[in-house]
Amino acid sequence: MHPSTKLLHYGRSASLGTANPPIVKASTILHDTVAAYKDNKSRRENDDSVLSYGRRGTTTAHELAAAIKDLESGDGCFLFPTGIAAIAGAISAYVSAGDHLLVVDTIFPATRTYCEKQLVRNNIEIDYFPWDTTDISSYLKPNTKAIMIESPASQTYEVMDLPALCKSAHKHDLIVIADNTYGSSWLYRPLELGCDVSVIAGTKYLGGHADVMMGAAVVKEHALLPLRSFVHMTGQTLAPDEAYACLRGMRTLDLRLQRHGENSSAIAKWLLNREEVKFVLHPNLPNHKGYEIWKRDATGCNGLLSVAFHQDIDVEKLLDNLRLFSIGTSWGGFESLALPIDPQSGRIFKSEFTTTNMVRFHIGIEHIDDIVADFSSAFSLLSDNYLK
Ligand SMILES: *Cc1c(COP(=O)(O)O)cnc(C)c1O
Repeated sequence: MHPSTKLLHYGRSASLGTANPPIVKASTILHDTVAAYKDNKSRRENDDSVLSYGRRGTTTAHELAAAIKDLESGDGCFLFPTGIAAIAGAISAYVSAGDHLLVVDTIFPATRTYCEKQLVRNNIEIDYFPWDTTDISSYLKPNTKAIMIESPASQTYEVMDLPALCKSAHKHDLIVIADNTYGSSWLYRPLELGCDVSVIAGTKYLGGHADVMMGAAVVKEHALLPLRSFVHMTGQTLAPDEAYACLRGMRTLDLRLQRHGENSSAIAKWLLNREEVKFVLHPNLPNHKGYEIWKRDATGCNGLLSVAFHQDIDVEKLLDNLRLFSIGTSWGGFESLALPIDPQSGRIFKSEFTTTNMVRFHIGIEHIDDIVADFSSAFSLLSDNYLK
């Protein structure tokens, strides 16, 4: 069955003839006999879909976890209250005090902060490597345990050669953890490309409507046990209302991402021809870093692009002039957003993107004509001000 068809049928097994699973709220799960209780307790150790106690999720969260596991082709899926909780959990499951963790330099800034402010306190060594690394051996130390990657990269979208990198990492028995929020279980499949764990901030496209916080970590069989025990010991869970909202949002994941991708590709190409623009970063541009790999490994692009404007452009004024774009963090909802960014900040390996006048746009699913018209009028308002 096509995944686009599956999206509409996930979560029916727990329902009462409803198309969506009911919101089941519970802490205690009642049993009639001691024997039934004991049976439940033993089955839940190897089966994450057993309803046993609210902290281990009720049927609503179990249905969502099963859907994400299936989309990512994993063997286990664990849910977290936020994306960053899922990243912190996935890393912490595999690295311990005294271990060394390698992190791609183009990682999501909050992941970098977690590594530098929290993991270092726990006596874990952190080093960074460039996004285009295909052989990890020169970065290894005797205590290297895991690699944290993100592809396409945060804010600049470089596409990594994951099959090559994972092959070299597995020669040294390392666990490769991928942040797959860009692909959001749809456009990109890290586990099939060789990674061991795929983490998704469902806050973005899975929920898809700017009203859910959640994270998921999907794992292959051989790496499942450390993550499961971390989740259970630290009490990671997703509340039933959030699980319900996330699965409902996912019904339209295919449709929304198609439109986000078409719109962002069209705007990327349109902005390239504007004299105010210095360069545009978007995976669907043929001169983009990793374009050939993206064509090979991904099935599409999402709504994100980053744009560098020439120094004489007042970027803050330009963004204020946009009517359809609000200013705000996060992305993956249906709506258009813009935010000034400084992608080079905190990075170690310098790139030609070291420029101050940059904006990240999230192109929503509005009609493309209206988005183009909005940009056109924001640019012309800017030059009107200029002439005054
Ligand atoms: C947003 C985001 C996260 C964190 O998700 P939250 O739900 O906001 O904690 C992690 N990684 C990437 C790439 C993100 O864009």
